[in-house]
Amino acid sequence: MKKQCYKFQLFKLPYAYDALEPYIDTKTMKLHHDRHLKTYTDKLNAALAQCPELHSWSLERLLCSGNNIPMKIRNDVRNNGGGVYNHIYYFMGMSPDAEHVPGGELLDKICRTFGSWDEFKKKFKTCALDVFGSGYLWLVTDRRGCLKIVQTANQDSPISKGFCPIIVIDVWEHAYYLKHYNDRASYIDDWFAVLNAEFAEDNYIAGLC
Ligand code: MN
Repeated sequence: MKKQCYKFQLFKLPYAYDALEPYIDTKTMKLHHDRHLKTYTDKLNAALAQCPELHSWSLERLLCSGNNIPMKIRNDVRNNGGGVYNHIYYFMGMSPDAEHVPGGELLDKICRTFGSWDEFKKKFKTCALDVFGSGYLWLVTDRRGCLKIVQTANQDSPISKGFCPIIVIDVWEHAYYLKHYNDRASYIDDWFAVLNAEFAEDNYIAGLC
């Protein structure tokens, strides 16, 4: 992901709002990007405006610095910085025209860890259904390079705990409620149909360095 610092620009979607139809609907994409992500971006900038000493810090550094962030904006940085970071991964992680099943080194590692791509999908779906309340489910690598499926609550980000993100699904209700109502299972299936496996492969390779 390209490193940015203050003042953060609203991330530009790499595809049209309707590009992921019929799996992810246009209205959800518009609200999710233009309202939810924009609000996180604006609120992150508003918090950072109070602390010029942080203006040269990347988003990654801000999210990994926890207790070194001044108390008056610590929660705002955690929630809104996480909201920006996590949504960029989520939006980049979908594509209408990329491969939807990983290949190469990532597929090898998934097969060694979970048995097969289908076994991984089954496990990931079960874990995504288990996220209680608002949060995300991630496939990450840990510091030893092992694959792990981890949940994060609210807008917490796995990089704050030293993990490298590979794949993420947003399971906040705003990500699917307009089209899928309370049927998170069918949303997860639809999300897999537009998974940007090439982005995931690149993330895996980048995380190993
Ligand atoms: Mn979201």
